[in-house]
Amino acid sequence: MDVSIKAPAKINLTLDVLHKRDDGYHELEMVMTTIDLADRIDLTEKAAGGIQLESSSGFVPFDDRNLAYRAAQLIKGRFNINKGVHIKIDKKIPVAAGLAGGSSDAAATLKGLNQLWQLGLNLEELAELGVELGSDVPFCVLGGTAIAQGRGERLTPLPPPPPCWVILAKPPHGVSTAEVFGAFRQEKVEKRPQLEQMEAALAAGDFHGICQGLSNVLESVTLDQYPKVRLIKEKMQRFGAPGVLMSGSGPTVFSLVEQENAARRVVNSLRGFCRQVYAVRILGGLGEPNRLE
Ligand code: ATP
Repeated sequence: MDVSIKAPAKINLTLDVLHKRDDGYHELEMVMTTIDLADRIDLTEKAAGGIQLESSSGFVPFDDRNLAYRAAQLIKGRFNINKGVHIKIDKKIPVAAGLAGGSSDAAATLKGLNQLWQLGLNLEELAELGVELGSDVPFCVLGGTAIAQGRGERLTPLPPPPPCWVILAKPPHGVSTAEVFGAFRQEKVEKRPQLEQMEAALAAGDFHGICQGLSNVLESVTLDQYPKVRLIKEKMQRFGAPGVLMSGSGPTVFSLVEQENAARRVVNSLRGFCRQVYAVRILGGLGEPNRLE
């Protein structure tokens, strides 16, 4: 039997690091939304018990360092599954970009194996398993638009942003999330996200309120360490994008734009300056299978 499942990328509308906890994890508060840029995961059951992985990208590991592989290991161990699985990842989301590509592959693998092996888990139970793999995995299981708190496991669904374009620009280098968190210092933060303001803007469908509320405290690390990221942000702002922010720990910078001609202007402004530029739509709401039951 085969299962195919989409693994969409996310962007952060806000990202706040509240404090470091006694268990060593950071207490996070983020608003995230899914976008129409997705990997595809194909799962094929194997009679022999192992996990095999292949990917269209040479940039991802093929063994248990791959988050999709780890998701399969977790499910097999937890539910004593002795069948094996072949995981094929058609990679479209740039790697180490701040777009949760690995986390989304892991979430899709959890959801797909739940189907393949008829485990009967609901999205809440899958999200709980997901936090053992990484702090963005529970959100990726849920999809849509949501607040993620704690290590990322406390999720509150929110209404989606109004339909708009998301222009993404990814500088050539990746960024290590662990290193960015390691270098983060509260005293360097100039602007903190206002969660209630973002919630109100989403509830009202207020596009300009959402743009004004975009805020990510990790910019205080990545923009300093990688001047190219700062330059991309400035360029997007200069070409009239109303809302511009770095996603996650970076280095991808995105802008939200309502009109197609304005989206084209921002894309054109980046030509010759940044090779990886994408113009996609917000998925963010769906009401499809992506809601907690
Ligand atoms: P996040 O926004 O959740 O911090 P990211 O978008 O910054 O994630 P990923 O693309 O998930 O970063 O990649 C981070 C690291 O994880 C890379 O070094 C990569 O080698 C590793 N990795 C493991 N599994 C995957 C996968 N399935 N896809 C992409 N990267 C993976």
